[in-house]
Order: sequence, then structure tokens, then C-alpha cells
Amino acid sequence: LPAIFTPARPVLQKIEQAGFEAYFVGGCVRDTILGDPIHDIDIATSAYPSEIKAIFKRTVDTGIEHGTVMILDHGTGYETTTFRTESGYQDYRRPDKVTFVRSLAEDLKRRDFTINALALRENGEVIDLFDGLTDLKKHLIRAVGDPNERFHEDALRMMRAVRFASKLGFMIDPATLAGIKQNAPLLAKIAVERIQVEFEKLLLGQQPVSGLKDFIATGLYQYCPGLADQKDALSGLLVLNNWQLANTQQAWAMICVQLGLTGQQIGRFLKQWKTSNDLIKQVKKIVPLVASLRNNTLSAMDLFEGGWQAVQDANQVAKLYGWVKDDSEIENQYQALPIKSSKELAVDGRTLIVDGQLKPGPLLGKVLNDLTRAVVQGQLTNDRETLLATARQLAEEKG
Ligand code: ATP
Ligand code: MG
Repeated sequence: LPAIFTPARPVLQKIEQAGFEAYFVGGCVRDTILGDPIHDIDIATSAYPSEIKAIFKRTVDTGIEHGTVMILDHGTGYETTTFRTESGYQDYRRPDKVTFVRSLAEDLKRRDFTINALALRENGEVIDLFDGLTDLKKHLIRAVGDPNERFHEDALRMMRAVRFASKLGFMIDPATLAGIKQNAPLLAKIAVERIQVEFEKLLLGQQPVSGLKDFIATGLYQYCPGLADQKDALSGLLVLNNWQLANTQQAWAMICVQLGLTGQQIGRFLKQWKTSNDLIKQVKKIVPLVASLRNNTLSAMDLFEGGWQAVQDANQVAKLYGWVKDDSEIENQYQALPIKSSKELAVDGRTLIVDGQLKPGPLLGKVLNDLTRAVVQGQLTNDRETLLATARQLAEEKG
């Protein structure tokens, strides 16, 4: 077992010594067998939450109604979830009731895909009830059990299938793919926030074109905010090579660029997707910068107003389209800005008021803007006396 499991092994041993079963499950098992890096470890156990809490001194109730307790051991937290079945799927959404069970098989059966339904014992033994190992070898995403039924139970699984296709670069098994095609309209029943998580993971995966191809071919896109009639625009993404995005704001900016959204349309689109206000703010900065890169009109003022983060994000998006500037060229251009924030201006509102030429009000703001712009564009040196003299002149002209 990879080193990341080593400190967790005693935790599983302790549960077993108390007479229960405990396994590593889910993504960490799949990724270990694939030789991919693991970001978190999930543990499933036959012990009920109260029993886990009796075994370990330090625990946190992170989701006790779903059977999840975090065990704290040597400064690390381990999410431990009691084996469970899910029942009462209503409205094609995740069930409102979970039932704790003592059988690992029952727990694995409720999982979405065979490659996600593997369990790993502390001693390295793999439990594979659904041929997940074969599918891992064949690079296949295949539903556990009947795809139709499974997507009826929880329609989000269809988005999960396409995001794993992207994350792993796997194919979706034909029967599972057919199940998605048939049930795609059920996605409309799922909370947008949950679709958003999977869509972002799709866009940020290793093989996004592979996941996106399935997202389009199955018709899932039709049940996503703002994408219903965008098949052509989305398909345009399939021909991009060198798709390499580093974060969510780049991913959303790329989608906005691809859909041809500008100005207010960007905020409206992203609000439908219920992304955070902070993300909307970022994307609104990035998209116009991408346009400037595309048109080769990127100005000092664009760089100044966008800020370094948005400039880097925009350049990354532009790269996908081949509208790229050299990273070092754009960095030099940014570094060459005389000031990088209005805080660096040699005068501020107070200085101008004390100087006696201007009173608080709209004119003051205008003059400061003009000074900032002139300094950014290199028309004025950022020096107190120069700026004060110019401010006096502007105040007279405009006042
Ligand atoms: P990642 O590396 O992206 O976190 P993961 O496989 O760990 O991948 P999670 O969303 O963290 O994915 O879910 C953990 C496990 O829980 C999955 O591997 C799967 O076994 C199960 N699971 C999660 N969501 C569902 C679902 N909607 N239906 C069935 N099983 C699910
Ligand atoms: Mg996970």
C-alpha cells in the first residue's frame, strides 16, 4: 500500500480488534490501483457511529445522521462511514433515508460505478464484487447493476459518469452510456449546485474532451443551465488540443468565451449555475482580457484593471485557442506597469483635498481616475508634485 495509507492502518486495525469490519473504499482505492495520487482516504465500517465513538477517544460528528464520524488520530482526521443502504429515492434525487447495515456487500451495491465499488482491507486485500478491477484495467466506467435503475435512483450519477470519463480518461461502457442517453432528462430534477460540482470537475479533468464528448452525445447538456441550445458552441470545444485549465474561474471563463457571452450575460449565466459571487467577479474580469488577447489589443490599462491573477487566468484560457502570448512576454508587460494598484498612486483623495483644489465629491473621483489612467499609460510620472500640478489643472478645466 502507498505510504499515504500507512498512518491510517492502525485505525482500521483498532476497529477490527473491537470485532468490526473496516475497509478503505471509494476513490482512494480506485486511484491507488491506477497509480494516481490520492487526495483523501475514505473508510467504511460495519460499526455504527456510536460504536466508533466508543472505540476512539477523539472523534467529530461530521455527518452522523448519514453514518459519518471523523476519527482524530495523531493530528489527522479519518472520515469513517457506517455501511449503509439507501432507500426511499424520491424525485430521482439522493435518498432522504439511509439504513445502517452490517454487510459490506450491501454497502458496495449502492455505489455508482464498479471502479468506485472496490474495498481494500488494511492488509492489502482487495474486495471486488462487481468486476471493478477488470473495468479499471479496461478503462471502463460501468454502473453497478442496471444502469436504468441506478440513474432513476439518483440522476446525478449521470453527471458523475461523464466527470469520471474526464478525470480518468476512461470510456463509458455502452450499456451505461445508453442508460444516460435514455435518462438524461432526469438531470433536471437535480439541484444545480450539485451538477455544478460535477461539471467543474469534468472541465478540470485529465481528459476533458473525452468527458465533454459524452456530455454532449448523451444530451446531458440540454438539462444544464444556459446550455440547452448550445450544442454547436459546446462541440467547438472538442477540437481544442492542449486543453489545460488550472482552476474553476478559468474553466468558466472558457465556457463564457466559447458561448460568446459578454458583459451582463456573464453574470446572468453564472447566476443560473449558482456559482459564488467571487467567481462571477473573477470571470467578468477574465473574459474581456481574453478578448483583448485574441484581438491583440491588450493595453496597460487592461492589465492594470484586471490584475495579475485575472491576467494569468486569461492567458491560460487564450492558450487553448492559440491566441496566446508568451507567458514571459505577458509577465514582463505586467511587471512594466508604473503602478499595479491605485494604492500605489503618489496622491490620494485626501492629498488632493488638503492641497485645496478639490472638495470631496464626483469631481474628485474623476480627477483621481484621470491621474491613475495617465500614470498607468506612462503619460505622467508617479510623483507627488507632478500629480498635484496636473490635478489643479484638471480641477480648473472641469470645475
Ligand atoms: P474523487 O477522487 O473525485 O473524490 P470519489 O470516487 O472519491 O472521487 P466522491 O464523490 O468523493 O468520489 O464519492 C466517494 C464514493 O462514494 C464514490 O467512489 C462512490 O463509491 C460513492 N458515491 C458518491 N456519490 C455517489 C452517488 N451519487 N451514487 C452512488 N455512489 C456514490
Ligand atoms: Mg472522494
